[in-house]
Amino acid sequence: MYVCEDGKIDILSLNIDELRQCIADMGEKPFRAGQIYSWLHQKRIADFDSMSDISAQFRERLKEKFCIKSLFIVKRLESKRDNTVKYLYRLSDGNHIETVLMEYEHGNTVCVSTQVGCKMGCRFCASTIAGYKRDLLPSEILLQIYTAQRDSGRKIGGCVLMGIGEPLDNFDNVVRFLELLSSKNGMDMSLRHVSLSTCGLVPKIYELAKLDLGLTLSISLHASDNKSRSAVMPVNDRYDINELLTACRDYFKQTGRRISFEYALIDGHNDSKEDAKRLAELLKGFICHVNIIPVNKIKERNFTSDRRSAQRFRAYLEELGINATVRRTLGADIDAACGQLRREYEI
Ligand code: SAH
Repeated sequence: MYVCEDGKIDILSLNIDELRQCIADMGEKPFRAGQIYSWLHQKRIADFDSMSDISAQFRERLKEKFCIKSLFIVKRLESKRDNTVKYLYRLSDGNHIETVLMEYEHGNTVCVSTQVGCKMGCRFCASTIAGYKRDLLPSEILLQIYTAQRDSGRKIGGCVLMGIGEPLDNFDNVVRFLELLSSKNGMDMSLRHVSLSTCGLVPKIYELAKLDLGLTLSISLHASDNKSRSAVMPVNDRYDINELLTACRDYFKQTGRRISFEYALIDGHNDSKEDAKRLAELLKGFICHVNIIPVNKIKERNFTSDRRSAQRFRAYLEELGINATVRRTLGADIDAACGQLRREYEI
């Protein structure tokens, strides 16, 4: 069961069946669960007293048993260039997380965090520098979207799990979040508009494939051989490129979904023509897409890159028949890269 700091049940993390069961256990009519779910996930009220079609007496009993979580907006940074908004939220236990609202031609997408900190230790990533604190509850992932939507007044059509944390390291809560996000009685977002990015926790990729949720899997590959991948991504010592790509083939076979490979370009590290050749060789026969990201400079590390090197690398790949794009760098003026804002706040 999902529990809040005060020991009560985190009602926003429950699915409709669990809510129905809890309500039945309280001796109330199970159909009340549908009403309550709709207050929480469609009307998005923040307290039980707003549930006007529930009796005052039952509301008091609900308050004793459940808590309704919320996120507090500590900081809101809006890019002057591209309408990207970055939120720093405070969780009810005082920890901080980041969420980014991005505007694309086809609509608004929210980039959510899945953990407070991260265990994975990728060398170029600010989210992992101070280590890992805890997993986010399903409600805390979902509220990042609800809160950004309410604050911005924008319609939100997509979600990427590319904020702080490794989503597959918080597997069960992430899967529940996806269930709530796509629920007909809630946000009703199609999981076709959701991308989940992982550094490559291989056993969990197999598990995710079995669920066949219809989402896009993004793999943070960032290198074309084990030596250079291990140098920046410690997870590669646990699951190497070969094991990772075998899991990706399985994912495609099970789900029919094209895989997206992320490649953070670091000058002098993984940007040569040789790297492009090795990458093309690795991805031969894959139905996939490579997303080249000029590495975002973080002040704790010396890695650099720019759009020109990224375009050059893309041209190498295209010559070799690999479908690649250079990711638009949104929110560059507001430090929108993973974990940078939280770092300034927590330490
Ligand atoms: N843990 C997941 C998702 C979070 S990070 C993962 O590893 O995929 C989202 C993406 O941003 C990943 O591809 C990650 O490698 C990349 N990233 C992190 N720091 C970066 C930086 N400084 N510059 C460019 N990309 C970065």
